Amino acid sequence: MGDGGADLRRRVPRTDVLLADPRLVAAAAVLGRERVKAAVRQAQDRARRGEITPEAVPAEALAALPSAAPRAVLNATGVLLHTNLGRAALSEAAVAAVVAAAGHTDVELDLGTGRRARRGRDAVDALAAAAPGAEAVHVVNNGAAALVLAATALAADAEIVVSRGELVEIGDGFRLPDLLTSTGARLREVGATNRATLADYADAIGPRTGFVLKVHPSNFRVTGFTSAVPVRRLAALGVPVVVDIGSGLLAPDPLLPDEPDAATTLRAGADLVTASGDKLLGGPQAGLLLGSAALVERLRRHPLARALRVDKLTLAALAATLGDPATPTRTALHADAAVLRARTERLRDALAAEGRKADVVPSVAVVGGGGAPGVELDSWALSLPERYAGPLRTGDPPVLGRVARGRLLLDLRCVPEHADPAVGAAVLAVPDGD
Ligand SMILES: *Cc1c(COP(=O)(O)O)cnc(C)c1O
Repeated sequence: MGDGGADLRRRVPRTDVLLADPRLVAAAAVLGRERVKAAVRQAQDRARRGEITPEAVPAEALAALPSAAPRAVLNATGVLLHTNLGRAALSEAAVAAVVAAAGHTDVELDLGTGRRARRGRDAVDALAAAAPGAEAVHVVNNGAAALVLAATALAADAEIVVSRGELVEIGDGFRLPDLLTSTGARLREVGATNRATLADYADAIGPRTGFVLKVHPSNFRVTGFTSAVPVRRLAALGVPVVVDIGSGLLAPDPLLPDEPDAATTLRAGADLVTASGDKLLGGPQAGLLLGSAALVERLRRHPLARALRVDKLTLAALAATLGDPATPTRTALHADAAVLRARTERLRDALAAEGRKADVVPSVAVVGGGGAPGVELDSWALSLPERYAGPLRTGDPPVLGRVARGRLLLDLRCVPEHADPAVGAAVLAVPDGD
């Protein structure tokens, strides 16, 4: 190596400087200083050999360490419920409730009488109050667990009558039909992919029927020559009707006219509604079961219910979410495009003042995470060269955007307004190559 090599070696940050990096300090607090030091030394060696740039040493050291905890990220993707980013962000009230519940709590105890009480009754009562029309409710681990419990308790060794057009894949390769048949229930598929009629259902119903299942096709849309049978008509068939609405909307939202909600579905005659807690409800991961007292009681008493039960943190977050529906998900959904534009322009101007050029462009945000397919929310985005995507993703805090036609778009719809300056700082932390 010539002088270039010596120069490179000089530019490799010193160990004590690296160990003072807040991210590595945080890692050392969990993993121990020696382990972090070893990762730092290896990264320095790689930089000295010219395999990575000196600037990449801290990130390289961090990447070599097991992450201590999930990292908080800024979601500038414009996707409200991004499953890879943990779907709904909890409200401040829900976060406070989780922290308060982290120690010992009265989750299953009546402090008045000193006796055992129904587990998570705050959450259960709040859910029942928020969904008038549900005689009883039950909470399990997630939407898939709600379906598994319903299928096991109500249709093991029996048939679930379901439309072929509703046998959806919910993500990561998991398919509803496989989930349902894994319980021992058999599927009795009716209709064709695009059409099912009441007569199709009526023909399939018999002594082996456990229930009729209706699934909201929450992550795709079938258009053209289609028909599906509304819950109101299925309810007249004389067998229990279970409806998986997916999104967790408890009441209609005028912005999402095609999205089913629990109250309307129950009023239409559904015996049981299942939904997720961390989609449009904006709460923690949970599976909600709402409906007839007799059916819910059968679910609650089934042995599997014990295996699917939720922890005290989830129950605390759910109760708080239901108590204060101004969730970040709702805020993002209802954010005014003009306000988003103004925020984005302020960010652009702040960057311009530092000599960094970015544009403000129209953007389209979506609900995502299995909800409201086809709904496009007018939004605005900060447009940067695509090369910003990697450094922002691995920065601190990581900022996730969307790459389109050679540009990185940062849509502020799902970014809390107080975090706008953090987005600006993250952009400025990327070395300016223009
Ligand atoms: C999201 C979804 C599920 C799965 O719910 P999880 O909470 O992810 O387990 C099932 N059915 C429908 C219609 C959904 O949208």
